[in-house]
Amino acid sequence: MKSYERLMEYAKYPTGSIEENASCPSNPKEFDFANALAEEMKSLGITDAEVDENCYVMGTIPANIEGYDGPVLGLIAHIDTSPDAPNENVKPKLTHYEGGDLILNEKEDLKISADALKNFIGCDIITSDGTTLLGADNKAGVAEIMTLAEILHNDSSIPHGTIRIAFTPDEEIGRSSDLFDVEKFGADCAYTIDGDLFGECQSETFSAMGATVTVTGISYHPGFAKNNMKNAIHVAEEFEQMLPVNERPEYREGREGFYHITSFNGSVEKATMGYIIRDFVWEKIESRCEVMRKAAEYLNHVYGEGTVQVEFTEQYHNMGEVVEKHPKLTEIPLDVIREMGYTPDTAPIRGGTDGAFLSFKGLPCPNLGPGGSNFHSRQEFAVVQDMENATKMIIEVVQRIAKLKKDEL
Ligand SMILES: [Zn+2]
Repeated sequence: MKSYERLMEYAKYPTGSIEENASCPSNPKEFDFANALAEEMKSLGITDAEVDENCYVMGTIPANIEGYDGPVLGLIAHIDTSPDAPNENVKPKLTHYEGGDLILNEKEDLKISADALKNFIGCDIITSDGTTLLGADNKAGVAEIMTLAEILHNDSSIPHGTIRIAFTPDEEIGRSSDLFDVEKFGADCAYTIDGDLFGECQSETFSAMGATVTVTGISYHPGFAKNNMKNAIHVAEEFEQMLPVNERPEYREGREGFYHITSFNGSVEKATMGYIIRDFVWEKIESRCEVMRKAAEYLNHVYGEGTVQVEFTEQYHNMGEVVEKHPKLTEIPLDVIREMGYTPDTAPIRGGTDGAFLSFKGLPCPNLGPGGSNFHSRQEFAVVQDMENATKMIIEVVQRIAKLKKDEL
């Protein structure tokens, strides 16, 4: 079975994660897909395939190199799909694409633009029927890992080391690494097969800090407020305006970081603001924190000590800090992608990934693109030929990792 055929099967499982649901998995239907995957893994010779009580699927492809003592390589993808678009009753559709806009729903004028597809003329495109997302994020990755398992199972002439597979729940709501048992997984290095187009090889994510700003005001009858009232809403507004306007996410790209206000609740007595701070270098995160501290200090000078309080919560670090210590892990896929005649895309991820958390839990874990795009939307698509390319690339990477000694990683 080819990767794209698997994607078209897997897409039918409704596995949208549910933010409001605190359980793991957040959607009990994720278990249906997880159990089906474990069964399929067993049929492909992965005898230890199992689903744990939190819906993490794990299994081992044993090395076929005698006396193998090289790195244990992990391959990771997530089984949930985004809650940001309708995700039940997905009907995947295969279209041979010859150019122009790809119409998904005539009535609603829902289409994938010719621009998004300009590199895929003559390719076969998988989409939904326009009423839901497709779920190629991340079922394309799952499909490619399973297809790799099938190919290695059927062709013993491909030399490989020990491969550990993990499929995780609830990545789309930021929880997939929470209960990921890195020790049990037992890999020395890993790749997430997630994200975007084939050719992507990402070893950097944002570093991330959260901030809560609390302003304490003094309420007074407005008719007698002179010299008595301190309106927390105004002080909070003033704080927000002291942050550089051009460093908001809507004006930033590439390697640029930002301040982003995510919530504002206020009354005269009390106002709170939630922020996220993002950048690629931790020192820049720290200097942004310093700008916010200084703003609070100034306002406290004007309005009285203790009026504005800022608290920071470290969220995650750029996985580059860990991955750069294992250069082979990115060099190998980059070489393979080039040898296949493509130009790799190493632009850092302007977000976090499973890999970011896992890297800091001791499992260096760059990301490889499985061959899809327009995620979290009804215009999501996957490219059959690129899924084939990604599968081939991963199989080649697996063989080259197996040639390394553990300390060469
Ligand atoms: Zn994803």
